[in-house]
Amino acid sequence: MTNEPSYWSEKQEWVSHYAMKNFVSHVFAVALVALVPSLAHAEAHEAAEPRWSIAIHGGAGTLDPDRMTPERRAQYEASLQMALDAGAAILADGGSAMDAVKAAIVPLEDDPLFNAGRGAVFTWDGVNELDASIMDGRDRSAGAVTGVTSIKNPILLADAVRIESPHVFLMGEGAEEFASTQDIETAPPEWFATEARRKSLERMKAEQMSALDVDHKFGTVGAVALDQNGDLAAGTSTGGMTGKRWGRIGDAPVIGAGTYADNRSCAVSATGWGEYFIRVGVAQEICTLLRAGGTGWTIDASLEQKATAASKSDMTMDGAKAMLLGDLGKRAQRIADDVMAEVKELGGDGGVILVTPEGHALYSFNTTGMYRGRATSEGVNEVAIFAED
Ligand code: ASP
Repeated sequence: MTNEPSYWSEKQEWVSHYAMKNFVSHVFAVALVALVPSLAHAEAHEAAEPRWSIAIHGGAGTLDPDRMTPERRAQYEASLQMALDAGAAILADGGSAMDAVKAAIVPLEDDPLFNAGRGAVFTWDGVNELDASIMDGRDRSAGAVTGVTSIKNPILLADAVRIESPHVFLMGEGAEEFASTQDIETAPPEWFATEARRKSLERMKAEQMSALDVDHKFGTVGAVALDQNGDLAAGTSTGGMTGKRWGRIGDAPVIGAGTYADNRSCAVSATGWGEYFIRVGVAQEICTLLRAGGTGWTIDASLEQKATAASKSDMTMDGAKAMLLGDLGKRAQRIADDVMAEVKELGGDGGVILVTPEGHALYSFNTTGMYRGRATSEGVNEVAIFAED
């Protein structure tokens, strides 16, 4: 016997190496494809660093860069950044998605630049009637209010409805009466009323314009968040549309239209021409399509191909997962775009923000601009206004 490697032992070694490589490749491919349905949820928890993400909006509409002064632009960007930072700080600290959503929305409600809380648009009768809704993706508990006139931060009242009442949706005087039993701050009419919004109403009446012509932009505010626990939340707050009458209610306080959150799929907040968002059921439609597999467009075929390709290359499991997460993000973007295209087809416009359980923070809008921002644990931190930003 000799210790020199024989032809046979070398070949055997090569054969078993080859067989093992093939076996590992095969197992890898099968495992990756089998993992696909559960990966979405598993990933958030498996990541070495817990993920969090947040997206906010301050309304979508016809926004023209040439008509906005640099000072005005800086004001909007500073307000959006402040709201984004307030929400992001809570998430980075391990706080809940629900707290982050409220922390981001409250400063926007208090900011007269936006059509929510202070700075809300006027009804035909010259009142500021406020709507808001909030939803917790953990258990799909939700709260909403419409037509309140003295609540400083309607998003907080919506949350009190969710937690402290047996109901989901309260309106007008009843909602205010409920607020008086809670620790909810009120404010006089002057707090909400701004000169700019009053002028919009006057112009609308004088020139017999529609709300869209007079406003050009909507200005509703909203936030969606994913926390380090993997929980999702969404909230939206608005004054509605200039000159609204007959007790008109838009999509913002309607759960499923303007706001939706479900840990199994996504969290969405919408802004735009509310009637169309109600008809399409925008927020819930996006979440349901995500859960069900898309608008006739699935990633399964390409995933299988990619998993096989990955198994044949030197790609690590982490690399393959990163690729897969990229696909999940593209899929969510595609679904949001498809639903917004439906809104447009019917004649409506506006936009949505969403976060997924994997941490994607996305926007989709069919207007020339949307006041928006997003931040994630991966280091994304941006605010933007125009489509080309
Ligand atoms: N969606 C809101 C409404 O129709 C308006 C907006 O988003 O600005 O009441």
